[in-house]
Amino acid sequence: MARLELRNLHAEVAEGDEKILEGVDLEVQSGEIHALMGPNGSGKSTTAKVIAGHPAYEVTEGEVLLHLEDEEFGEDIEIDEDQRTWNLLDLEPNERAALGIFLGFQYPAEIEGVTMTNFLRTALNAKIEEREELFEDEEGEEAEEEDEGFENSPMEGPADDGEVGVAEFQGILQEKMEQLEMDEKFAQRYLNAGFSGGEKKQNEVLQAAILEPSIAVLDEIDSGLDIDRLQDVSNGINALRDEQGTGILQITHYQRILDYVEPDHVHVMLDGQIAKSGGPELAEKLEDKGYDWVRDEVYGTA
Ligand code: ADP
Ligand code: MG
Ligand code: MG
Repeated sequence: MARLELRNLHAEVAEGDEKILEGVDLEVQSGEIHALMGPNGSGKSTTAKVIAGHPAYEVTEGEVLLHLEDEEFGEDIEIDEDQRTWNLLDLEPNERAALGIFLGFQYPAEIEGVTMTNFLRTALNAKIEEREELFEDEEGEEAEEEDEGFENSPMEGPADDGEVGVAEFQGILQEKMEQLEMDEKFAQRYLNAGFSGGEKKQNEVLQAAILEPSIAVLDEIDSGLDIDRLQDVSNGINALRDEQGTGILQITHYQRILDYVEPDHVHVMLDGQIAKSGGPELAEKLEDKGYDWVRDEVYGTA
């Protein structure tokens, strides 16, 4: 189990002093689905980026904490008492990812000559290695062996230090793609080359399935999807929660995806704060009545 906690979070543009977040309080736990809604410009994406550690933003007040409980990382890693709470603001983005935070990038770059399979295996191994570094006790450091030539050989068995080898990864990938009902051919394609908008979004869900984060932040993964693709992506998100207990922070402007990915909690962001929280019924009310009534309720009408 893991719990992500934003406490009175204030952030502004790093190069400048425009305030964007003005006291965000939010908690997301493993296994929960939270919808973060709100009008354009209210600070939703900034919240996601600050959680991930995006350098464009400076946190001026408040905390982003990650609490880990037993067996968060299976049997490989034992968590000491003093490693249960992490102040994410002290950590680099890749360290946050290694601790189990996933932020899908809205538009992953197209990289020529890198297949999806290689990209995903590299990402998984980078996470495993970073995690070992974070939890390694200082005396138990092992000399790392170079393992050149392994990269392209289809030999069985693990490489050094728990790295996932080619053959093992094929198995993982196949399992996850079946879970997400994705076409096998997808994995052989070059990273994002000629991917449709919908395929990029599915790819984002696949990345999350492979990396098995404790908490996944999905920013407008529903934008621009037709109904079939929306259903595929939604099934994938539900599988993340149901199969691996990932907590989901689903950022969306529209209620539509919440018909398929049913949130436990709904939050409305206005002007850099969570103005109102509730259950799924809140999303339906927003669908009917827009955001203005929340503003009226919070600021009072004239
Ligand atoms: P949302 O995702 O809710 O639409 P954002 O978090 O993207 O909102 O943006 C919130 C506000 O902060 C907007 O007014 C936006 O223009 C501003 N903003 C966000 N990022 C930057 C940036 N890097 N530089 C300048 N202004 C920014
Ligand atoms: Mg600044
Ligand atoms: Mg946004």
